[in-house]
Amino acid sequence: MVLLTAGLVLLIATYVLVISLSRPVAPGSGLRYDEFINDLHSGSIQNATILSLDRRVIGATSNGQYWVDYGSDLTLNNSTLPALTAAKVPVLIDNQWLKQQIVPLTVLMPSLILLDGLILMIVLLRGQGAGFLAFGRSSAKRHSGDSKITFKDVAGVDEAVEELAEVKDYLISPDRFLAMGATVPRGILLVGPPGCGKTLLARALAGEAGVPFFSISGSDFVEMFVGVGAARIRSLFKQAHEAAPAIVFIDELDAVGRGRTAAAVGGTDEREATLNQLLVGLDGFESESGVVVLAATNRADVLDTALLRPGRFDRRVHVDRPDVAGRLGILKVHARGKPISSDVNLESLAKRTAGFSGADLASTFNEAALLAARRGQTEITPSLLSEAVERVMAGPERKSRILQPSDKRLIAYHEAGHAVVTAALDSGMQVTKISVIARSNSGGITWFTPDEETVMATASQLRDRLATLMGGRAAEDLIAGEVSSGGADDIDRASTLARRMVCELGMSEKIGPLSMRISAGRLEADGGIPIPWSNEIATAADAEIQNLVREAERTARKLLERRRETLDRVAARLIEVETLEGPELEDLLGTGARLAVQQ
Ligand code: ADP
Ligand code: MG
Ligand code: ZN
Repeated sequence: MVLLTAGLVLLIATYVLVISLSRPVAPGSGLRYDEFINDLHSGSIQNATILSLDRRVIGATSNGQYWVDYGSDLTLNNSTLPALTAAKVPVLIDNQWLKQQIVPLTVLMPSLILLDGLILMIVLLRGQGAGFLAFGRSSAKRHSGDSKITFKDVAGVDEAVEELAEVKDYLISPDRFLAMGATVPRGILLVGPPGCGKTLLARALAGEAGVPFFSISGSDFVEMFVGVGAARIRSLFKQAHEAAPAIVFIDELDAVGRGRTAAAVGGTDEREATLNQLLVGLDGFESESGVVVLAATNRADVLDTALLRPGRFDRRVHVDRPDVAGRLGILKVHARGKPISSDVNLESLAKRTAGFSGADLASTFNEAALLAARRGQTEITPSLLSEAVERVMAGPERKSRILQPSDKRLIAYHEAGHAVVTAALDSGMQVTKISVIARSNSGGITWFTPDEETVMATASQLRDRLATLMGGRAAEDLIAGEVSSGGADDIDRASTLARRMVCELGMSEKIGPLSMRISAGRLEADGGIPIPWSNEIATAADAEIQNLVREAERTARKLLERRRETLDRVAARLIEVETLEGPELEDLLGTGARLAVQQ
């Protein structure tokens, strides 16, 4: 670096010298060409030297030195030389050899200086000195704690708000927590589909706690210079430390935190450097520092596992799509302070917009307001809102679509199927919540949680677990006579579980306690070493796996037929409220009075 800097200074100095040397020679006073010719005629010119490179004549007159430009060789040959000869003045021709060598340098030097400067800059950014260039620092935005946004502006994501309220308490009085010896999570990952309020929540937390908020977006790191992203992360954490207690918010974490093996072509070095710096930043502060790191992503599955280790982003907060009640809450937030006509029914609007995210609902109001303004109306009316809903659905982003009633019914039965089967069996699992909306665009979700702190599961429990996984599909088949694409994930999980039961856990009569671990087997297969079990065994194992899954499907189906009433009841309620959990779910399922099932 020192060498490069010295080189740069030297280059610039040389350039200045070269430029000054290459300036035309100009002793004495300049003459106009006609004055020069006149002076020649009048005999006052005493001698002349022709500088061919400068296209200039210099020399002495009777009262001093002079110079004059002749412009072109044509003028020199046709006019200047004949006039000089006619005036019988001694003439010298100087072809300026030294200057001829220097002139090309004037062209070359700027590129050399630029090149050196560029290399210097890259070295600087990459290495230690980045701090003094504003470059690496500029894009972390600092918002002071005067942000007007609070938790009141966020609706429909109550659990996330609860989690963040804890963090808020810590930020407001960290000493109290430290005195209790409590460890507070400092790396919190907000996960959820786009437009559901992750960024909003982070800003609300800052607003509530009234602490400085440093935000940066993963997409800002897509830079052309290696090292800029890392420098930014470093300065981000440094700034936050100086301002502690403070919040660091990294939006779109997946842009920088993608798994290192799943790297796209190009830009890998840069991303990796940034990711490493982020890991250093996360590890580099003590629990007393009062800095809380928040990050948001809608792709938690692609994140580098290093980011998710304990002590880093080990707390996950889901920010799911809102259900009916959530949507009503969000609509109320965005209706605040807008001229809404009194016949607008927000409840019915909430019911009609299943599948919309918070952002969709916000733009619904915005579109309606725009339409009203364009048409000279003074209030937002129900018909304007309906039109706005259509516009949002057809809009350029088109991220969400409204869940059609027929799909909603099928999804409701699918999730209810999981829940009813789980309630009826002793799989060691419990259903704590079901939703037709939550996380994905294309289906519902069932939250399974283990009954107790059981690590071990018996063969019959695992068979029951297979049945609960098949419960969704079985319910679809029961009410529609066929299955939909919504069960792909269940099938995947069931197949994996069944394979483990047969190939690793020795839970099949035919195969017995024999290990056929796929991972090890495949590794060896790739290395050219034969798989250590026979084709016959493999075929038999496949058949056993198939049997297990088929059996589970039958169990689920039989169970649902028998408990059809419960299934209908749960599904109907789910269609209405979109998410079910807690006591209400238990009531509907009649949990506790588990039916004994013959298989
Ligand atoms: P994300 O970061 O999850 O993609 P944002 O927080 O950027 O979503 O949400 C975009 C906008 O949508 C917010 O500024 C807000 O106006 C609206 N919005 C989204 N979710 C909610 C919510 N839960 N409550 C209120 N408004 C919301
Ligand atoms: Mg966001
Ligand atoms: Zn399912």
